[in-house]
Parts: sequence; structure tokens; C-alpha cells
Amino acid sequence: MAVDAIRATLQPLMVELLRIALQAGRQAGLRADRRSVREDASAGSIRAAQRAAVARFNRQAGTRLRVQMSQVASAVDQHSAQQTARSLASLGAPLGARSPAMNQELTRFVGESVSRIKGLTPELARQIEQRVVTAVQRGYTQNQLRINIMRRIDVTWSRAEMIARDQVQKAYARMNQARQEAAGIKTYRWGPTDSEVPRELHEEYRGQVFEWSDPPFDGHPGEAINCGCVAIPVVQ
Ligand SMILES: [Zn+2]
Repeated sequence: MAVDAIRATLQPLMVELLRIALQAGRQAGLRADRRSVREDASAGSIRAAQRAAVARFNRQAGTRLRVQMSQVASAVDQHSAQQTARSLASLGAPLGARSPAMNQELTRFVGESVSRIKGLTPELARQIEQRVVTAVQRGYTQNQLRINIMRRIDVTWSRAEMIARDQVQKAYARMNQARQEAAGIKTYRWGPTDSEVPRELHEEYRGQVFEWSDPPFDGHPGEAINCGCVAIPVVQ
């Protein structure tokens, strides 16, 4: 769901980056066919167009990503509340009051997701610029350049998705922790994982009891990258 939200937000902006890159290429002498090849690609004008595109991207993406990720944060919050209420109910314990830690975690989640995804742009823009210059110098067609740029944009998509998944998982784990602690739960049992590649160490942890105040060295369940482990509340 976080991934869909990010796609919906970034897609029009990526299309805009592509449009600007192709326009810069045409201005620098790139043709629809190979008949006219200019050696003196105007790298300066390409760079200027790219810089403007990045500034616009950061403005638009910043606002839209923030709105989308706030919606994702609410969904993570709800899901964690339902899940924790269920696992506490099996212990006969009610959910505790909402604590400041929960809102702090949601704020951190939105801020960090937005800034890390936006942080992918400068590198993307630099590499697109490089492709435009190369295309003009080697006399590529517009279509060849378009394909080259789309491939590079795909790399950024995957990175943005990876960041979103990781951030959602971490926020979910920390919201569960905050809720268990708010309900007075001090310890948890390391539960199963939904990760396709479980960590050996976490397989060893499974079934063991840990204290919320004393995490193992790579963090509580769900905190390490791609860790899909869960913490089952324990009353001692
Ligand atoms: Zn794990």
C-alpha cells in the first residue's frame, strides 16, 4: 500500500523529468533520426534544464509525498492498533492509552520516508543528464534516449519501493512496541517472520523472551532491514 502511494505520487514527476530530458536533448541537437549529429552537445543548457527540473521535482514531490505518507502512517497506526489489541486480548489485557511515543514514531516515519525518497533525485538527475549528453554526442535517436532514461528511472523506482517497504515495516514494529509498553507489557517472545529470507540469528531468537528495555544488538523484531519478525507480548 505504501508502495502504491509512492508510485501514484512519483509517476507524474518522473514523466516530467523524462520530458525535460528529451526536450534538452532536442535543444542540444538530438534528432528523431540519425541524419543530423552534433558533436558539440550543449552540456551547459542540459545541466540548466536538469537543475530546474530537480528543483521543481523537490517542491512538488515534497508536498505530495508528505500527504501520501501521512495517509500511510494512519493506516500503519490502525493496523498496529488492531493487531496489538488482538494479541493483548489473548492475555486478557486491554490496550493502554495513546502515548507520546506513538505520535513521535509516526512523525519520524513521515519525515524520514519523504526525505530519503526525495534524496534519490539528485543522483537520478545527474545520470539522466549524462545520458542526454552521451546521446547527443553519439547521435542516438530520441527513442533510444527515451529507453535509456526509462531504464534508469526504473532503478529509482525500485529504490523508492525498497525505502517505503523498509520504513513501513520499521514504523509498524515500533508502533507495536509503543502499544505493548503503553499496556504495561515489559517483555515479548520473538515470534515467526514473514520474510522470505529469514536471518539465521533471528531463527535462533525465535521463541526466546526479550525485554523491551533491552534490545538484542540488531534491534527488536522488525527493526533490522527486511526483518519481518514479530514480537508477541508476554506477561511475566
Ligand atoms: Zn527478523
